Amino acid sequence: MGNPKGFLKIKREPEKHRPAGERVKDFAPVCLSRPAGDSRDQAARCMDCGTPFCHWGCPVANYIPEWNDLMYGGSWERAYELLDAANNLPEVTGRICPAICEFACVLGINDEPVTIRENELAIIETAFKEGLVKPRPPKKRNGKKVAVIGSGPAGLACADQLNRAGHRVVVFEKDDKLGGLMRYGIPDFKLPKNILDRRIDIWRQEGIEFRTGVDVDGGMVGKLVKEYDAVVLAGGSRVPRDLRVPSRELPGIHFALEYLIQSNRRVAGEKIPAGQLIDAKGKKVVVIGGGDTGADCVGTAHRQGAASVLQIEILAKPGECRPPEQPWPKYPFIFKTATSHEEGGERRWSILTKEFKSQNSKVKSIVCAKVDPKCKEIPGTEFEIEADLVLLALGFLNPEPIKGLNIELDQRGNFKTDNNYMTSQKGIFAAGDMRRGQSLIVWAIAEGRKAAENVGRYLGGMV
Ligand SMILES: Cc1cc2nc3c(=O)[nH]c(=O)nc-3n(C[C@H](O)[C@H](O)[C@H](O)COP(=O)(O)OP(=O)(O)OC[C@H]3O[C@@H](n4cnc5c(N)ncnc54)[C@H](O)[C@@H]3O)c2cc1C
Ligand code: SF4
Repeated sequence: MGNPKGFLKIKREPEKHRPAGERVKDFAPVCLSRPAGDSRDQAARCMDCGTPFCHWGCPVANYIPEWNDLMYGGSWERAYELLDAANNLPEVTGRICPAICEFACVLGINDEPVTIRENELAIIETAFKEGLVKPRPPKKRNGKKVAVIGSGPAGLACADQLNRAGHRVVVFEKDDKLGGLMRYGIPDFKLPKNILDRRIDIWRQEGIEFRTGVDVDGGMVGKLVKEYDAVVLAGGSRVPRDLRVPSRELPGIHFALEYLIQSNRRVAGEKIPAGQLIDAKGKKVVVIGGGDTGADCVGTAHRQGAASVLQIEILAKPGECRPPEQPWPKYPFIFKTATSHEEGGERRWSILTKEFKSQNSKVKSIVCAKVDPKCKEIPGTEFEIEADLVLLALGFLNPEPIKGLNIELDQRGNFKTDNNYMTSQKGIFAAGDMRRGQSLIVWAIAEGRKAAENVGRYLGGMV
């Protein structure tokens, strides 16, 4: 602990954002980078706890007190080495992780927690700036080959770990570009895509082979099993929850991810044919679903020039404080305001969607009603909301099946594995959202690392 009084003298400085009026005009990052001096001050707040609950709360078990201390002391290189030892994509989690660790920070019991996520970002961005992040191909190859299906954070973390340990790794991706939801789900204003490209370029130089545009089916998995020593399935979980109400099929009603994928492609410079375009410009946009995917739709609609944006949610508005059943150090379900919400629009809770209405064969309004805390409709509370673009952000049910592949699923429809991440077929492993259901990037990274460790053990070595 470099500064024993840091937590007494220095207040938490939250991340700084570009002004809302300026940032809604483009898709550039909302967050501003923090000066190095401020980062060191914030690291000085860490108490180097005997039992660091931040470490316990972090799915990748980041060495948080250690790198806070090194950062405070100006030892950026060693701080980077420790960060790199636990997290394959700190430049991503440092930007968009909900920071489970901060909710577990001991300082958070009676003060504001350490800015762990931004400290992580400061370390990795300093490391890139100082040229510390460079290709380090394994010194020796062990002759084993592993195929990874899917290039989201789970597949990429798994591939990186296996490659570092000397395996030959080929990543197969059905999209035209790598990154999974980090590229085509999450908007650029949260995660600019050059951040992904910078890391993938290093992995390429380290020897990982990437094959895009390959939609792997059951037949191909069969061939890969023969050609490779192990196969890891990391295809994500993208079957969206639908809303079964009258007139759901009307034009103008889309799944959130359909909209976000298209917007990400447009921001990357792709032209979308007019007949397929989903654009919020001048429209009354209603986002159904109050979660993070919904918030990304809100921010995207603002940037596309929507006439109005309303986000509705069937559940009651969460409280501002931890509920008694989610005490510290648990990650609590509390009221959150995303940067997209600061940019405008309205949010309403305890609203049931009953039916869609049309005009000129397109959606024109939504019939809604209020619900009680048990989500039961309150009689006599029906009302109508005007809408000419409706985005359904109701969560995800399970992974898309891999056609022709016979693998046991769990009760929720996720790919079932044993404790060693192996599926019901020998030599085929699963990781990430495909195994645990829609989750978080940091969990996908943790899953990819654990799957890699188990593949390594299965192939007779350790990673
Ligand atoms: C809109 C949105 C915003 C989010 N924002 C955040 C956030 O801010 N912070 C956060 O921590 N988490 C966020 N998440 C969650 C996070 O993105 C996911 O939990 C994470 O990406 C899961 O990683 P994954 O590698 O398991 O799967 P994915 O990222 O879904 O990647 C799976 C990849 O596998 C490929 N694939 C699938 N099947 C095949 C096949 N048969 N052949 C070849 N390739 C295949 C897919 O094309 C895809 O590229 C968000 C999710 C969404 C939808
Ligand atoms: S719990 Fe908070 S104060 Fe304690 S070591 Fe972790 S970051 Fe530092």
